[in-house]
Amino acid sequence: MYRDTQCTFLENYAYVWGMWERLCIWGQKVREQTLCRMRVGKLWVKALADLMLPRTCLVCGRKLGLQEEHLCLYCIAEMPRTCFWNRSHNPMADKINGLIQEGLETAVEDGKADHEDQQRERYAYACALFFFQDEGDYRNILYSLKYGGNTAAGEHFGKMLGRKMASAAHFADVDTVIPVPLHWTRRWKRGYNQAECIAAAVSRELSAELRKDILYRRRRTSTQTKVDVKQKQNNVLGAFEAVKKDHDPSHILLVDDLFTTGSTLYACYSAIREAYPSARISFATLGYVGRP
Ligand SMILES: [Zn+2]
Repeated sequence: MYRDTQCTFLENYAYVWGMWERLCIWGQKVREQTLCRMRVGKLWVKALADLMLPRTCLVCGRKLGLQEEHLCLYCIAEMPRTCFWNRSHNPMADKINGLIQEGLETAVEDGKADHEDQQRERYAYACALFFFQDEGDYRNILYSLKYGGNTAAGEHFGKMLGRKMASAAHFADVDTVIPVPLHWTRRWKRGYNQAECIAAAVSRELSAELRKDILYRRRRTSTQTKVDVKQKQNNVLGAFEAVKKDHDPSHILLVDDLFTTGSTLYACYSAIREAYPSARISFATLGYVGRP
């Protein structure tokens, strides 16, 4: 009697388990078939769209293939990457650290900071995806993002930068990503903030929180294309304001589209440092003005 009951129980158990396994296999097959159909469907839509409105490479202007995004395979291979993500000390980081130390020395002279504050400041990490040259065709990546409304390019290259950074140990603990803000009038006119597009993709790759509610631009600054370094610094210093929120970030990453003199990023850094005195602050941009 006991054996019969046990047998029935085991048989029922095996039956239910068998059904569950079959259900799982069926579910997996349906998922794979749906994904496959979606992929084929997407390719068809893409092929049709390419036929009506061909996409071209942002750098050389060549017509893009189905699998190519924003750049052709040749221009992707030839992209003047900085590889700064592999080096915690690099020319970009040296430049921004120079500005930070200069600012601290002035603060010490003015009595607004002491030598302990200066010593407490850690070397800031910084990296960019590619070298930006005024005469080089890779500048089109940033121009199409900034002036052409190509926010998809910002996300695409932001993702590329984020993946590189995720492989570097010194960026592994980034927990908060803050884009350099535009003044609300400029944002309203443009309709988007190019730094936000890049920052959103970078934060996803680093599994960090994107915060657009911490840093604000309180006054509009004039365009900085035809002024010298000192003028640029004076132009943006004090233009930003950071608001202390209830979270306590340990490693903040400031993101912008282009690093030229570092004046804008330094002005943002100064505002954030006031609100978060103990957080590590690092920097990332798509382009870095310089030569390989
Ligand atoms: Zn190309």
